[in-house]
Amino acid sequence: MIAVGSGPAGLSAAAAFRARHPELRVQILTADPAMPYAKPPLSKEFLCGRDHHVDLHTPDWFDRRRLELVRGITVDHVDLDAREVITRGGRRYPYWNLVLAPGAIPVPLDVPGAENALQLRSLADAVTIRMAALQARSAVVIGGGLIGCEAAACLAGSGIATTMVAGEPVPLQRRFGLDAGERIAKLLSDCGVRFIGPARVVEVRDDGVTLDDGGCLDGDLVVAATGVRPDARLAESADIRTEGGRIVVDAHMHTSAPNVFAAGDVALAHNIAAGRRIPTEHWRDAADQGEIAGASAAGYPTAWGKVPGFHCAIGEARLKYRGWGIGYEHTRLVDHRDGFTIWYEASGEVVGVLSLNADDDYRLAAELVGTHVPVSD
Ligand SMILES: Cc1cc2nc3c(=O)[nH]c(=O)nc-3n(C[C@H](O)[C@H](O)[C@H](O)COP(=O)(O)OP(=O)(O)OC[C@H]3O[C@@H](n4cnc5c(N)ncnc54)[C@H](O)[C@@H]3O)c2cc1C
Repeated sequence: MIAVGSGPAGLSAAAAFRARHPELRVQILTADPAMPYAKPPLSKEFLCGRDHHVDLHTPDWFDRRRLELVRGITVDHVDLDAREVITRGGRRYPYWNLVLAPGAIPVPLDVPGAENALQLRSLADAVTIRMAALQARSAVVIGGGLIGCEAAACLAGSGIATTMVAGEPVPLQRRFGLDAGERIAKLLSDCGVRFIGPARVVEVRDDGVTLDDGGCLDGDLVVAATGVRPDARLAESADIRTEGGRIVVDAHMHTSAPNVFAAGDVALAHNIAAGRRIPTEHWRDAADQGEIAGASAAGYPTAWGKVPGFHCAIGEARLKYRGWGIGYEHTRLVDHRDGFTIWYEASGEVVGVLSLNADDDYRLAAELVGTHVPVSD
């Protein structure tokens, strides 16, 4: 069995397969030169300088399980007829079962000087930003998504004058609505982040950025947190079915090709609790899907039915989301003394919840979202 990618999806696929077949060969081929690491801390504890330990497993962990981890190797294409993956250097790796878990790649910042902006996608990126932050007095974060918010709060918390520029009036409005955006803007402001939006960066200079209204912002450090898109190129070039740039899989993570599975950010998987395909870009969901892909490849298929979710850290605040992520019709805001709950509803059902300091609501949502219970007033 081969897993392409050493993120949570690839790793759990390999481990799940190994647990069911102690004797068969299992290889993990990954473009990342680093030992597998946790990504969520990169924009939180690691960037804030609070924790440097992001390794997921020691080399010994892989050795004991006889999982062959081949790092710094890019798979270029999949030959379905020969049942081989071929690397950029032309090396061929035969497979019997294949799990594609290449994750997502950053959406490029398409403006002059974009090469002056740093990205935050890998451990190497996070180290580079931390090094640059040591010298910086000012920073600009381009993009108001989850990673941008976390990174901006960390930089401001390190004493760097930090401005976030986003295309929306408040951060995360498109994804979570105005009520959520206003509250997230307040959290950022409490951390010392200045927010500018809606605005567009038209140029990145080596000392800051220029905005579409002609204004200039100082930034010794500029971070482009402009989002990601799933990397389905391996599937597309092999004529494996994709939709909206993701690899289509059933609830067992099986693709349209024989013995080929996909999991994680790249997958558009059928969720049996939702009754439809759900895209996710979260750590826990990628690990869950990888586990299912590995078990299915081993001949023990289980079905994906968990409700996706994630946590987001803005300074000391911990936002928690549970839900299908897309397709809500309206929202219901409940403010609490030191937090809030936003219920997302569609067709008379709860389809998601975003909460701050409201763990009872968060737990209740996990039950309601998965079970299609009608909304009660
Ligand atoms: C800074 C940061 C913070 C995050 N914070 C959170 C959070 O708080 N909560 C949360 O739920 N999610 C968070 N995420 C998102 C989460 O990390 C992803 O959803 C998750 O890592 C997806 O897992 P994956 O296995 O699908 O892909 P990835 O983890 O992206 O792994 C993909 C792997 O495939 C390899 N690869 C790609 N192409 C090839 C190829 N052609 N050949 C060989 N190898 C290849 C890559 O090198 C990599 O090892 C964060 C992400 C980042 C970057």
